[in-house]
Parts: sequence; structure tokens; C-alpha cells
Amino acid sequence: MKTVYLDNNATTAIAPEVREAMEPFFRDMWGNPSSMHTFGGQVRKHIEQARQQVAALINADPSEIIFTSCGTESDNAAIRGAAEVIGPRVNVITSRVEHPAVLGPCRYLSERGHRAFEVGVDAAGQIDQVQLGEFLREGSAVVSLMWANNETGVVFPIAEISGMVKAAGGIFHTDAVQAVGKLITDVRAVPVDMLSLSGHKLHAPKGIGALYIRKGTRVKPFMLGGHQEDNRRAGTENVPYIVGLGVACELARAHRADEFVRMATLRDRLQSGLLASCPDTRVNGDVHHRLPNTLNISFEFIEGESILYMLSDVGIAASSGSACTSGSLEPSHVLRAMGVPFTAVHGSVRFSLSRYTTEADVDYVLAKIPPIVSRLRAISPFVRKQ
Ligand code: PLP
Repeated sequence: MKTVYLDNNATTAIAPEVREAMEPFFRDMWGNPSSMHTFGGQVRKHIEQARQQVAALINADPSEIIFTSCGTESDNAAIRGAAEVIGPRVNVITSRVEHPAVLGPCRYLSERGHRAFEVGVDAAGQIDQVQLGEFLREGSAVVSLMWANNETGVVFPIAEISGMVKAAGGIFHTDAVQAVGKLITDVRAVPVDMLSLSGHKLHAPKGIGALYIRKGTRVKPFMLGGHQEDNRRAGTENVPYIVGLGVACELARAHRADEFVRMATLRDRLQSGLLASCPDTRVNGDVHHRLPNTLNISFEFIEGESILYMLSDVGIAASSGSACTSGSLEPSHVLRAMGVPFTAVHGSVRFSLSRYTTEADVDYVLAKIPPIVSRLRAISPFVRKQ
């Protein structure tokens, strides 16, 4: 059976170039980079090369990059580390559509005496800049706002909002886990203080991430222990994965511009094909400011989960706007924050493409979905029968 993987915002395939670059570090080069002998020195230089590769992708200085275990760790380290430096009672501002990796630490801080604010979004998923301005006037703040949304692909105007935060004297962190490798994320062009990225969203393995910390930004280390990463992140470095992340960043930098156009063209073909062949279908999120690889679409009156099961039967992998948690369908907090109607939230499906997606993949999906949607609508209790 043909298989089509369109769930790349969840995770991506490891690029063959990345796998090959990592391999020697599982075989011969297994030394501890902190060791003074040649076993250590041999691997240490590869960590520094990877640091340069990661830095180059976001136009940072290598000394501004620390390696972490994942995007979630980077987010936690940035938000909690910055709040701890400022004091016992800090304003922490985020948005209602962030990933749990950001909402979690912000809510944790609010339970410990800090004040947390969540900025709303409009129907297109765009940040409410007026409300952000109001929250910034409440006092000095740590602000964490995502570069691009994982569910809808909506891209926030990071230059503008980071400028607002800096003008108000705040510390600005952005979760750029979905943006890095797909968009230009130039930390010299926008005044972000910290930026999180994650390997497995850009064809490196799961379990490796990085945090950019602008020179001069004060952050209390999150992981305590050894002196690794210039005393900013304790723990023996995950050398093979760091090397893999470096190569993945190098590949992204080399191909980003071409991939942007190719993915956006395929995504648009998928979008227009589905809108034309399936009635009562709507696209969620700001189509003018969106990641090139993401389509979040609602098939009204049916459950996204049911569509996913039937897609899975014909070899297609995507994801839905409802997460099946503890037996109940929890509707997406992102789509709810946008005010997407109940029936559309439940019928939402996210398709996310990658550099490996082909035109044949898209055409296969376009052929399979309309009959699935008709079949599910025929048995849906929500559809008004004529
Ligand atoms: N932030 C965003 C926007 C994400 O999409 C994800 C993963 O889905 C994360 C953070 C967490 O990254 P990781 O899986 O590397 O912990």
C-alpha cells in the first residue's frame, strides 16, 4: 500500500545526510567531550562545528547557542530561567495559542507567585497587539510568543511584537520550533532575546534542541550540575545528536528558499483541491501569514479523528485538532481561542508537508479524501438530512 506522511509538524523523517553524519559517533568517536585526552578532544571539535551550523541558520554567534534535549527544555529553560533572574514576582506574558511547552512553564510560574497573562488572538489566529500592549503596561515582563503556530501554521509578526516588548523593557523569548528551517529566522534582524528550536522538526532526530540566548541576556541555568555549555546547561553532551542537529541546520540553510516555494505550491494544490471537492469545508488560520508546509482544514459536521482513522487505512498520516486524551476528545485550544465554531473544531485536520512530500502524494490524498468525507457525512448525527 502507498504511504503518505503529512504529519511533519509532529515530527519529520531523519534526513539520510544527518543519519550518516551521526553514525561515527555511535561507533568510534564515543569519547566524553569534557575529557582532556584525545578521545574527548576528538569529539569536542564536532560539537563546536555543530554550534556554528546551528548559529548560521539563525544568524547568531556560536557563543549564543546552547544545546538542550528538546524544544520543550529550551522553552522551559528560557522562560523559567529569565523569570528567576528578575525576581520573585514577575509578569509573564504569553498567548492563548502557544504550545504546551510554553503554556506549562508560564502556568507553573503563575502558581508560584508570578503574574501570568495570556494574549488572545483574532479569528485568523493573529495576535491581539492591542491587548499585548495593555499587558506590557502592567510592568516589566518576560514575554514568550511563538514564531509560528504548530496547529495552524500562522506566523506571528515577530519583528513588530518583539519590538514592542523591547520598547517596554521586557525580555522576549520566541518558540521558533516550527519556524526554524522553514522561514528566515534571523536573530540579528529582529530583537529577540531568546529563541527555541528542536531537531526533530527539521529532519534531525528527536531528543535534541537548542536555545539561542542573545549576548548579555541574563538567564539562570535550568539544568544544574556540571560545567558543560559554558555553565549554562549541565549534563554530558549528546554528541551524536548534536552533530545531527548541526547537519540538519546546514541542510535547511542550503535549501530553505527552494523548499519554501516547493512546499507552499504543493500545500496550495492540496488546499484548493480539497475546497473544490468537499463542500462545507473551511481553512483555519491566516492564509497570508502561514508556514509554507501547513494546512489546517475543517470538514464540518464530522469528527477529524474519524477522518484520520479512515485515512490511516489507506496509508495517509495526518493529525486532527482534537487530541484524544483519557478517552475524551479534547478540542484544540488553538482553534477554540480563534473562535472556530464547535462543529468545525471537531472536524479539523492538519496536513503538514516536508521536503520529501511529492506531487504524487498530494494527488493521492486528493483522490482518497472526498469519498471518505461523503461516507462519514452520510452517517453523521450533525448533518441535517434533507
Ligand atoms: N513548540 C512547538 C511550537 C512545537 O510544535 C513543539 C513540538 O511539537 C514543541 C515546542 C516541543 O518540542 P519538542 O518535541 O522537541 O520537545
